[in-house]
Amino acid sequence: MMTEVIWKCFRCNLTFKEKELSDVHKKISNHSITKVKTLVA
Ligand SMILES: [Zn+2]
Repeated sequence: MMTEVIWKCFRCNLTFKEKELSDVHKKISNHSITKVKTLVA
């Protein structure tokens, strides 16, 4: 198993695989983004 880092907006329940995309979401929505590790099967 491998771990993968993703960025998550808990307010929207959205996940982003690219930090750049999470940054865009953060900028336009002013939501906080949390970096999380997930297991990849
Ligand atoms: Zn959001």
